[in-house]
Amino acid sequence: YFVAPEQFAEGAVRVGGEDARHIAKVMRGKEGDKLIVSDGVSREVLAEITRIEIGEVTLNILEALEMTHEARISVTVAQSLPKADKMETVIQKCTEIGAAAFVPFLSERTIVQYDERKESKRLDRWRKICKEAAEQAHRNIVPAVGAPVSWKQLLKSFADYDAVYFCYEKEAGLQLRSAVAPWLAGLPPEAGGKVLVVVGPEGGFSVEEYAQAEEAGAVSVGLGRRILRCETAGMVAAACILYESGE
Ligand code: SAM
Repeated sequence: YFVAPEQFAEGAVRVGGEDARHIAKVMRGKEGDKLIVSDGVSREVLAEITRIEIGEVTLNILEALEMTHEARISVTVAQSLPKADKMETVIQKCTEIGAAAFVPFLSERTIVQYDERKESKRLDRWRKICKEAAEQAHRNIVPAVGAPVSWKQLLKSFADYDAVYFCYEKEAGLQLRSAVAPWLAGLPPEAGGKVLVVVGPEGGFSVEEYAQAEEAGAVSVGLGRRILRCETAGMVAAACILYESGE
């Protein structure tokens, strides 16, 4: 179970809300049962249930566990907002694959409109899906899901990463694997690295966006000789990078 960091106290942890209900009603948890609880960021523990009340389960921490399910390479998937519920698929599947974070963005050919005030429910839903996928995949962290940003904001954020791969459907030259392998080989042993993959919407990227991305420091890469659906491309890119890194 993932709980907020503030639910951890000296030697104990409290699980509330939907998770407490799940432990009590679905798992039929009882005092003495052992569970793994994580703060979704940096701490994971084995804990024993000491009290079950309506809406809250209290656990005694038995031991700190090593965070062994995360890759040393952190892959953030920037996805131009796709239609319908495709963003949910991207978040769910890329979380299972091992993505570290998601940045939805709006680009020239984005079809859907995003109104932050009206759509905060959608963001909550994405985060819920992400948490559930992280639990199912036995992740140690819950990837961060940001609110959609503009193309300009996304370009600015390129500076925060060690490598940015712009997945360009018209890229006939460099393929992602050929770009990633030498970059990984150049990393000191055991060192981590922050990678951003940028994926376009149903209608793809414009030539101007391609030029702006390269100007901002991205490397344009292909993902093979077939055109992937926009919701498939991020999964393929994340899997390829993590596979190449051996994780
Ligand atoms: N029309 C389809 C759809 O509705 O999903 C295909 C969309 S494809 C143009 C969407 C995005 O996926 C592209 O902008 C690109 O980022 C990525 N993509 C798909 N196939 C790719 C490929 N072979 N190489 C690189 N990127 C690719």
